Amino acid sequence: MQSLTNRSENVNRSPMTFAERIYIPEIAKGMAITLKHFFKKKVTVSYPDETRPFSPVFRGLHVLNRDEEGRERCTACGLCAVACPAEAITMEAAERLPGEENLYREEKYAAKYEINMLRCIFCGLCEEACPKDAIYLSETVTPSDYARKKFIYTKEDLLIPNPVTEPEAYKEALGKNQPTTAGSLK
Ligand code: SF4
Ligand code: SF4
Repeated sequence: MQSLTNRSENVNRSPMTFAERIYIPEIAKGMAITLKHFFKKKVTVSYPDETRPFSPVFRGLHVLNRDEEGRERCTACGLCAVACPAEAITMEAAERLPGEENLYREEKYAAKYEINMLRCIFCGLCEEACPKDAIYLSETVTPSDYARKKFIYTKEDLLIPNPVTEPEAYKEALGKNQPTTAGSLK
């Protein structure tokens, strides 16, 4: 039968030699290959005890940022939700009341802010769209879970600790991927 490609090879059906029949040279060859790999640098890591370093441009969980006075930066303008290609962001805006100037930086704030991490593709467009440096993607990996509703991150989950009342927790939450303008007033 004519072959479809020119890559076919004829099978060698010649009788085995004495060396092939006793297998010892082949076993020795196999052991030599094993020994060679034994001294090579390991490419595997013992996850989760060890983790590989992430790329400097890795994008993980979102953080809703505050300004240096601890006020929420988000003004619920909705630009992040509009920019999101996965339609993962929802929010509800509310008016700041007199006496709440120390809580919210702008006259309008997000009373409710949610991100569906099952929809999110971690593209970072929400961070780029935000005019207030209110949201950025940290280097934290989204933890796995069994329940779908655990992946709906609310404002309470996303909001960074207050830098005035919890400076240590704030610094830790900023992480390595902090925005260049973190803490600055725009
Ligand atoms: S990272 Fe991308 S997909 Fe995820 S919420 Fe932001 S804009 Fe949407
Ligand atoms: S996070 Fe930024 S873009 Fe999104 S609603 Fe708040 S201020 Fe607007």
